[in-house]
Amino acid sequence: MTRQRMGSKKHLYPHTLLTTAGQEEYDRFIAISRGRLCPYCLCETELIEDKVVHEDSPDKFRYYYRCKRNPDHHVGCHYGTKIPLGRISDSKLRRLKNQCHKAFDPLWKQKPKAFSSRQRAYYWLAKQLGWDNDFTHIGMFGEEQCLRALEIVERFRQYHSTK
Ligand SMILES: [Zn+2]
Repeated sequence: MTRQRMGSKKHLYPHTLLTTAGQEEYDRFIAISRGRLCPYCLCETELIEDKVVHEDSPDKFRYYYRCKRNPDHHVGCHYGTKIPLGRISDSKLRRLKNQCHKAFDPLWKQKPKAFSSRQRAYYWLAKQLGWDNDFTHIGMFGEEQCLRALEIVERFRQYHSTK
């Protein structure tokens, strides 16, 4: 890993954060990964029910973490739980994450499968991105990681379609 990469605030490498950035930045990363801190505004979030978002047809088993300053900054929770699907995103990042899922998920979901499991596919992607395996999930990506992941998956597809 280069010095420049380690010093860049844009990159969050959790496994090196403690040694390179210290406890404060590590704690911030963890709070962001738990939906408790807005990564844009660095302010607190609140847990809201679906009826706040979808007044007409609320789903009582669906929760969100939402930024207290900007209502566009939010993330949904795993169904029936208060565990966030990833970090808080804005609408632009949500579109990018959807694009990533559409490109990446077929690698382990669709036959013929490029990877035998979701876990193996993510392990491969983590290696390509230089990210800590434990934190490599599309839900945790920022814009830059989404764009890189899209590029990596596209290259992989091209390589395997010309073989
Ligand atoms: Zn915010």
